[in-house]
Amino acid sequence: MTPKFIKKSVIQILILVGSIALFSLFPKNPQTASSNSIAQIPPFDNSPPNLLKPPKPTKIPPSPAPKPAEQPLVFAPPAQFRSQIVYKASISNSKVIALTFDDGPSPETLKILEVLQKHNAVATFFCLGRNLREYPEIAKKVVQAGNAIGNHTWHHYYHDVTEKIASNEIDYTGIHIYRSTGARSFLFRPPGGRLNNGFADYAKNKNYVVVMWSIDPKDYQQLPADTIANTVIFQAQPGAIVLLHDGGGSRHNTVKALNIIIPKLKQQGYRFVTIPQLLQLQAEQKQQTVDRQPK
Ligand SMILES: [Zn+2]
Repeated sequence: MTPKFIKKSVIQILILVGSIALFSLFPKNPQTASSNSIAQIPPFDNSPPNLLKPPKPTKIPPSPAPKPAEQPLVFAPPAQFRSQIVYKASISNSKVIALTFDDGPSPETLKILEVLQKHNAVATFFCLGRNLREYPEIAKKVVQAGNAIGNHTWHHYYHDVTEKIASNEIDYTGIHIYRSTGARSFLFRPPGGRLNNGFADYAKNKNYVVVMWSIDPKDYQQLPADTIANTVIFQAQPGAIVLLHDGGGSRHNTVKALNIIIPKLKQQGYRFVTIPQLLQLQAEQKQQTVDRQPK
């Protein structure tokens, strides 16, 4: 082998290796190359929107349920009784009766609460503002035991009053009902049941129901318990409102009378309700009568 031949062979080998190298740089199949470049495009995995179908509503993640706001306690009559004067409820289909106690709260109120609780009965207490200021914790117990509370003015004036005085007497008592019990009340009883001295008119303008009574056993005259009890039992009828007192001196006879009245009337099928409950029952009964009328 001559050096010239070796040189020629080396050149030939270099050319061959170079050709192989060059050939391997080019893709063998142009289609493969193009599909490789398509493969580099991110896959189209969302199907096109179907315009015939309405889009599914996007689910909104539920927000945490808001805490229920504490309902303020309100003693109010159904709307039809606002600004009205009520002596009794017109109820024929239910043996219900409402006991009411005026002139408290006082230490005597606690004895009355005890009797009511013993017999599982509730009542309505028309309070004086000045007594609420003195015995707020007793008023609180009245409401906590499931009874209703109402406004009986601040001083228990019988004489004629100006609108300004009526406003002071009733509004401040309302504020003290709220301060002592946390409740707002739209139940008003005029002192002495007087309807023409300015108080009842003011209360009616302020959407109170003016609550009078249908049975007055005159317990404030310190009559014997039997006499008080007999008056209530003999005059009892569905929807009646009974006037009693938890203030204005010893209520010994009233407490004793209650221990006769409640079991006796319960025996006759009566149940004892608050004034808002009583008026609600009348409103529901009227509604049922309207519903039953032929069209
Ligand atoms: Zn009174």
